[in-house]
Amino acid sequence: MRDYFLVIKGRQAMNNEAKNGMECNEFEALLADALDDALAADARTAFDEHGKSCEVCGPLFAETWEGMVRVQGLAELEPPKNLVYNILAATSRKAGITTYLMDPPRSCVS
Ligand SMILES: [Zn+2]
Repeated sequence: MRDYFLVIKGRQAMNNEAKNGMECNEFEALLADALDDALAADARTAFDEHGKSCEVCGPLFAETWEGMVRVQGLAELEPPKNLVYNILAATSRKAGITTYLMDPPRSCVS
């Protein structure tokens, strides 16, 4: 927890410093676009330069990138057909709900 506060403090101090023509808050603002590879070439260059030289934003970008790659690597799963309905049925204590299990009402099928 202490480390966390040190990082926050570090970020706040960094936010006022411009590195290679870009400030940390600009870097953060461009982060999402950079991950989507949607930055213009000159913005991308400034972004990369800042990431390389800033000890706060560099790791931030690396971690975010790694997380995104990991998420993209996950196979997309089709949820079971009656998932929502079954959750509702399993968590509902209403009497007679079991009779619906075989024939879910229309509104519960997505
Ligand atoms: Zn920075």
